Amino acid sequence: MGKRFDTLLFPGGRNKVFTLSYDDGVTQDRRLVEIFNKYNVKCTFNLGYGNLGWKSDPKLPVNTSRVEPEEVKQLYRKHEVGGHALYHSDISSLGAPYSMYEILEDKAGLEKLTGYPLKMFAYPFGLFNRQNKEYLKIAGYKGARTVKSTLTFELPQDPYELNPTCHHNDEKLMDLAEQFVNMRTFKPSMFYVWGHAYEFDRNDNWDVIEKLVKYISENGQDIWFATNGEILDYIQAYRMLEYSVDGSMIYNPSATDVEIMTAFGQKEVLKAGKITEIGETPL
Ligand SMILES: [Zn+2]
Repeated sequence: MGKRFDTLLFPGGRNKVFTLSYDDGVTQDRRLVEIFNKYNVKCTFNLGYGNLGWKSDPKLPVNTSRVEPEEVKQLYRKHEVGGHALYHSDISSLGAPYSMYEILEDKAGLEKLTGYPLKMFAYPFGLFNRQNKEYLKIAGYKGARTVKSTLTFELPQDPYELNPTCHHNDEKLMDLAEQFVNMRTFKPSMFYVWGHAYEFDRNDNWDVIEKLVKYISENGQDIWFATNGEILDYIQAYRMLEYSVDGSMIYNPSATDVEIMTAFGQKEVLKAGKITEIGETPL
């Protein structure tokens, strides 16, 4: 077959993916969604079902009121809704039944509002333990985000410990963005930014997020814009590929077309549900 170094490519033969994750379902999400839609970037919004419609004390300097349940489907329709525990409890501190309740009731309520099974979760306060990861798997979640910045573009090893690249307030944010845009690599890479929309009011810095997504979007010809769940689905489809011993055939049993590179410049689209024959590659 010749020398092979098969690597995952994202849809469109791209090496890079950009994704966002915003928590708590605060009313400032309405403004944030408008910005994201303007630049066609994709975000996963993690909500606590039990807190929807909650109103914060108007005397407090920052409004942390939550969006109404009735607006969830329409507001986030171009993005993904993820879970964030029913009442934003620290699930790492709770006994198993109560921790499961926070996870499951949140998921069940949000699924009724959105009309689809949820894939992603964000740990409230970034706190979790080994058991919590198991509960999320049992509940049907495919991944969960932490609050630990990697300051890198690595793909996740463990989808239940999905570490973002950085928070939007990180002083390296635009340096990382430039590095990501200008990076020429064969390695599949992900730039993952997270935060809370009320922080833009608190710090009076809405320009930070608009500047970031405008820059990435305008320089994003070779970048895939996807929600967290779309990325996890795609990686899962890639990991399910079935190879023949001599490498000349690859079966893609998933419902998603998967793209790979088999040698320098040699790209293959492995159609969903089909066997693809791989041509000779240079020695
Ligand atoms: Zn939160």
